[in-house]
Amino acid sequence: MSAAPARRFQARDDLVELEGYHSPQVDVAVRLNTNESPESPPAAFRAQLAAEMADLDWNRYPDRGALELRAAIAAHHGVRPEQVLAANGSNEILQLVCLGFGGSGRSAALFHPTYLMHAQIAALTGTRVVTGNRAPDFSLDLGEVQRVMDESHPAITFLCSPNNPTGTVCSPEEVAQVASLAPGVVVVDEAYGQFARWSALELVNEDSSVVVTRTFSKTWSMAAARLGYLIGPAWLVAELDKVVLPYHLDAVKQLAGRVALRFEAEMIERVRALVSERERLATAMGRLAIEQWPSGANFILFRPLLPAARADGATARRAHGHAVWQGLVDRSVLVRDCGSWPGLEGCLRVTVGTPHEGDAFLSALTSTLTEVLA
Ligand SMILES: *Cc1c(COP(=O)(O)O)cnc(C)c1O
Repeated sequence: MSAAPARRFQARDDLVELEGYHSPQVDVAVRLNTNESPESPPAAFRAQLAAEMADLDWNRYPDRGALELRAAIAAHHGVRPEQVLAANGSNEILQLVCLGFGGSGRSAALFHPTYLMHAQIAALTGTRVVTGNRAPDFSLDLGEVQRVMDESHPAITFLCSPNNPTGTVCSPEEVAQVASLAPGVVVVDEAYGQFARWSALELVNEDSSVVVTRTFSKTWSMAAARLGYLIGPAWLVAELDKVVLPYHLDAVKQLAGRVALRFEAEMIERVRALVSERERLATAMGRLAIEQWPSGANFILFRPLLPAARADGATARRAHGHAVWQGLVDRSVLVRDCGSWPGLEGCLRVTVGTPHEGDAFLSALTSTLTEVLA
């Protein structure tokens, strides 16, 4: 009856301390919490994919190098196929970068508030996480970047542009500056890249440490497919090719990615519609008792304002933000409560969906604010 034998089956000590990453799913009519596309891919995409799947060699392993998919992605971006690495979602790409360039004795830098998976993935690969803070308006603070670089010499520096969850877009000068300060790889996570006016893709070349990651999950309406990729210098992609598991990318996914890229015009049109819906929401939200930040993505970060008469401070803000989140859930609208993220006390993040969903959100937010401020 000793507890000792069970100890052998315990997970790594550092795992026991890590909390899993999840966005709570609640059963609601309007789901605006995970930044997916509100629409499925074009009907013609589904038809072509189904037709071409019939010809797959199901008994054979898939093309290990995913060469046709790489070539199609490369053509889409005007780069060489050797500069492209595809994986099962861009999160897996981030994990490959950490496996290849991070690990024991190395560190990865990131600047809060930002995408929580960067820290989580780095930690899981045994990479030490070092952090700095963004400026109060959530832009990058280059002095702070310099401090972190000088103190920790990170092997990997993560930027996220547009930044999840703030929506902030890095300027070309900022990314170039970070690249010149950083001693290692600079990963620009552009999961929402198509929503922004500028992309760090133009900084990628053989002599630069910049790599850009993209995903089919958001702009391509293909979150279900789990497909993401990296564009970087060919030498770096060759190193990452050594890290992937054999045949990591299944044949269906390789095909789905290739077929999707034939529908670029439709993707661009969806992005355009979401950007105009984002601007409509931002204007309408500007009339409510909230603070919001300009977004270059398909979501908006906002903070319900506390009435002047009430005590301010992190705890009060967080409680107020959570009360508004709950009020929205009670009205069958789910957004993301970001109140527990560093520096985001009381903040909520709403995904831009269809105009119909936007109207439901605006009316739920208006009545919730009236209720909680009463
Ligand atoms: C949604 C998101 C991703 C997407 O990851 P996939 O694994 O490709 O679905 C990556 N980075 C950020 C910042 C995101 O918000």
